[in-house]
Amino acid sequence: MELPYAEPYKIKVVEPLYRSTRQEREKWIKEARYNLFNLRSDHVFVDLLTDSGTGAMSHMQWSEIMLGDESYAGSLSFHKLKDTISELLGMPYFLPTHQGRAAENVLFSALIKENDIVPGNSHFDTTKGHIEYRRARAIDCTIDEACNTSEFHPFKGNIDLQKLEDVFKKYPKEQIPLCIITVTCNTSGGQPVSMQNIKEVTALCRKYGIMPVFDAARFAENAYFIKIREKGYENKTVKEIVKEMFSYVDGATMSSKKDAIVNIGGFIALRDKALYDKACVFNIMYEGFITYGGMAGRDMGALAQGLDEGTEFDYLEARIGQVAYLGDKLRSFGIPIQEPTGGHAVFVDAKKFLPNVPKEQYQAQTLGVELYVEAGVRGVEIGTLLADRNPITRENRYPVLELLRLAIPRRVYTNNHMDYIAVALANIWERRESITKGFHIVSEAPIMRHFTVELERV
Ligand SMILES: *Cc1c(COP(=O)(O)O)cnc(C)c1O
Repeated sequence: MELPYAEPYKIKVVEPLYRSTRQEREKWIKEARYNLFNLRSDHVFVDLLTDSGTGAMSHMQWSEIMLGDESYAGSLSFHKLKDTISELLGMPYFLPTHQGRAAENVLFSALIKENDIVPGNSHFDTTKGHIEYRRARAIDCTIDEACNTSEFHPFKGNIDLQKLEDVFKKYPKEQIPLCIITVTCNTSGGQPVSMQNIKEVTALCRKYGIMPVFDAARFAENAYFIKIREKGYENKTVKEIVKEMFSYVDGATMSSKKDAIVNIGGFIALRDKALYDKACVFNIMYEGFITYGGMAGRDMGALAQGLDEGTEFDYLEARIGQVAYLGDKLRSFGIPIQEPTGGHAVFVDAKKFLPNVPKEQYQAQTLGVELYVEAGVRGVEIGTLLADRNPITRENRYPVLELLRLAIPRRVYTNNHMDYIAVALANIWERRESITKGFHIVSEAPIMRHFTVELERV
């Protein structure tokens, strides 16, 4: 017999999980104003809110915690990280920040001014927040296929070259400080961008004098998809693919809490010394001195180690294989998901799942609450609440996709947990016709409302 697949790691430390009752969960979610962010974590059985900062570090990463050098300036942990970034990404300049949005804040402070235009592929919510906060505008140029969940496209994170060129033609280059390529594209379903597309997009940027930058949170997962899906890359290592990806861009912002498998951290990587010098000023102002930028020395050490482990094929195969495993289970029950499954999460199509709930009553949020009450599984809404209001008209923005994201933490859950999640959703799928009512908003913040919004059942 052919040997079945098994994870290339074993478990050294475990955390117990509390198994709550449906009655308890009904009470807790009501107290949380039906906002999954307001739940206590011990009231959650399987936590798929995010894959951000929730991964399990390796024994090598934990040993870096002890080796951490906490010197204010010139820490050895900083230099270890700098060497790793320059070796792995080929970027000579780097600034540590406390997480990804902090990297955005620092870099955008140096680049973006009022009325600017920032094209890209489905900008992440904090990215868009940092653009709009500066009274600039993010324009989504993702390919149309990304909006059709049932259509199989191997690189749904790709940027539509025509849409991008239209932006470049419409606005002068002085008004377009950068173009952001998000790898993988979180908002469209953890979908990768092909090397071909990275090459074409960055060539177009060069033609119009625009700076291409990665939002690199899941660059390693993107590289893995290139290896297994794109012709010509099957025999390259993930690290070689990563190096090539970064060779086409001028910089990157990174949330290390994703593909670098640490609990906190971020950075900016840059090719240009002048931009680096400019960003240094903002880094010192907002984050900390340029050799720690809001991170402890030990965390920089763990991050350097995590970058190395996170770009190993065996690890990525286990990681992305587990996400695909959950996707396969859901598909076998007939549950509509974004096809194919992405790198870090399975995205359930809530519009197709709950067609009897009006979109004004937040379909994906409704499904998220149902899943929590059913089984104590916490996902997150990627839909109308997240899309927020138009900053000018203040009207709700109804995105094409209304998704419930089930993000899988790295190296944390077993496939038994995946089976549990799948059956919980299948139970709701069975009674979906009877779910006709959603939620209305009681209170919300003026920007990024989904984190703190309070809801009531209709
Ligand atoms: C998480 C994330 C960010 C923001 O990073 P934080 O570390 O959460 O601040 C930016 N872009 C993408 C694509 C992300 O997934």
